[in-house]
Amino acid sequence: MRSILAHGPGRTRERRAEHGHMGPWGHGDMGTWGHGWGARVITGGKIDGLRRVRRNVNDMREVEVVVIGAGQAGLSSAHHLRRTGFEPERDFVVLDHSPGPGGAWQFRWPSLTYGKVHGMHALPGMELTDADPARASSEVIGEYFARYERAFDLRVRRPVDVRAVREGPGGRLLVETSDGTWATRALINATGTWDRPFWPRYPGQETFRGRQLHTAQYPGPEAFAGQRVIVVGGGASGTQHLLEIAPYAAATTWVTRRPPVFREGPFDEEAGRAAVALVEERVRQGLPPRSVVSVTGLPLNDAIRQGLADGVLDRQPMFDRITPDGVEWAWGSLLPERGRELEGGRQVAADVILWATGFRPAVDHLAPLRLREPGGGIRVEGTRAVADPRVHLVGYGPSASTIGANRAGRAAVRDIRRLLEREPVAA
Ligand SMILES: Cc1cc2nc3c(=O)[nH]c(=O)nc-3n(C[C@H](O)[C@H](O)[C@H](O)COP(=O)(O)OP(=O)(O)OC[C@H]3O[C@@H](n4cnc5c(N)ncnc54)[C@H](O)[C@@H]3O)c2cc1C
Repeated sequence: MRSILAHGPGRTRERRAEHGHMGPWGHGDMGTWGHGWGARVITGGKIDGLRRVRRNVNDMREVEVVVIGAGQAGLSSAHHLRRTGFEPERDFVVLDHSPGPGGAWQFRWPSLTYGKVHGMHALPGMELTDADPARASSEVIGEYFARYERAFDLRVRRPVDVRAVREGPGGRLLVETSDGTWATRALINATGTWDRPFWPRYPGQETFRGRQLHTAQYPGPEAFAGQRVIVVGGGASGTQHLLEIAPYAAATTWVTRRPPVFREGPFDEEAGRAAVALVEERVRQGLPPRSVVSVTGLPLNDAIRQGLADGVLDRQPMFDRITPDGVEWAWGSLLPERGRELEGGRQVAADVILWATGFRPAVDHLAPLRLREPGGGIRVEGTRAVADPRVHLVGYGPSASTIGANRAGRAAVRDIRRLLEREPVAA
């Protein structure tokens, strides 16, 4: 048995096919792991001070752990791997398809300043101090993540897009990327949700003559100057968009599926634990994780209070259809909430519909592993996928917060160390 703990982390080995027939899922040319591949170590091509391998389309490299994603969850995981003796580029790699450091933060709108970000927890082992609250969070956090990657020498490979993860030979997982294939004994999936914005469908949507965009494309409030804007969604993003846009727009309308629940008072540790436990229970059952706001409610802060008092946060129930010029509530659909004056139905004209309808876990690349339960989610115990103990989901469900991602990274690494100790490597 070869164990990372018993024998120390193994070397990254470069494996490549001799004649372009790498497909362990089809060509039968690979034999068992470690045989018949014409394996050879190819080094050279020093880039950025790293020993990099030369590659062609058939490159395949072998590591103990692949981390997909270099947001809070991926960097926390990489940090804990490093702390416990795994060497970057030799024992593990971090792959990320974004252009720069910062995870999803690098894409957040410029008006989301660092001062407006609440409850951002620093990554393990390095505080984020003296940040200017007036600067864009995308810049502050992007720079902080870049410093972090350098300080802990995490050597994130980017941009590398992971397209699929499949079963490989010898109990390995094959991680197919835009930069060749990696074979790994364990996988930490830390791909967040930003890449999968959720757009609900409503009748007539395709007929709308105005502009439709999602939070993921929100450019900041100035872009809506003089326009009539409908914001859909009862989460933190929806309320923030409305409060920002209202001073610029000609009119705003807020629609949500359910009446929003505002939470009075501070969100203490106990309430936090209770909220996390609710999401945890869902993923344990294999249900899709719910958003944090759906279990915590919206904090009733001064800005929200003002928005409620001004009528900016005057929530309407969901419309029934979208028309070329706006949205429409059918006859009677507003009655239970709005009273008889709306009995005849209602239209609101709009230039823009802004969908602040959240995100879903970006896990499509895991589809070949068939981890999804009939309930639509991936069943997870702690961070481990119940259907495949080699796969850990960090930043998923209950750990989809900065503090949750920190803790989950540590837990995943602890579990993976145990797995690698236990499982012998074929060959
Ligand atoms: C507007 C907004 C504000 C928020 N504010 C807070 C807050 O104040 N406090 C808080 O705790 N949480 C907040 N959150 C939630 C918070 O962003 C997350 O919990 C945390 O930052 C997510 O980290 P992550 O590493 O899981 O995901 P991300 O930061 O999304 O990182 C995922 C990384 O994976 C990469 N990736 C994805 N798919 C692939 C692929 N196929 N191949 C290669 N790379 C891939 C992406 O490029 C990205 O870099 C906020 C979320 C939003 C949307």
